[in-house]
Amino acid sequence: MYNNQNVFAKILRKEIPSKVVFENDFVLAFHDIKPKANVHVLVIPKEQYINFSDFISHSLNIENFFQEVKNIAENILKLQHYKILTNNGSKAEQEVFHFHVHILGY
Ligand code: AMP
Repeated sequence: MYNNQNVFAKILRKEIPSKVVFENDFVLAFHDIKPKANVHVLVIPKEQYINFSDFISHSLNIENFFQEVKNIAENILKLQHYKILTNNGSKAEQEVFHFHVHILGY
């Protein structure tokens, strides 16, 4: 079950600060607090999904979300070389249980 006290829910509600790189009605993108690449940005939907599996199973905005990930990587961050990554489940190193995609830029 989704817990709305997770850190990304608090970032969405502006209860804690983040370095926002892009925001619209549907997504928020902000810099990871512990970057693991030259550029490390997290993209989250504003809808409440626990992880990739939950998002793919239930969202009606899957294509829109991934179009926004591409837009943020290429047009906002101006990256040509990047990885996108999502950790699904605690044993796969998911720490924050609000679905997010990492953009790692080189
Ligand atoms: P994951 O392990 O896939 O759940 O990724 C969670 C990511 O969130 C990690 O890379 C953390 O460094 C990052 N993170 C945790 N708290 C914050 C925060 N307050 N602001 C920005 N990034 C955060």
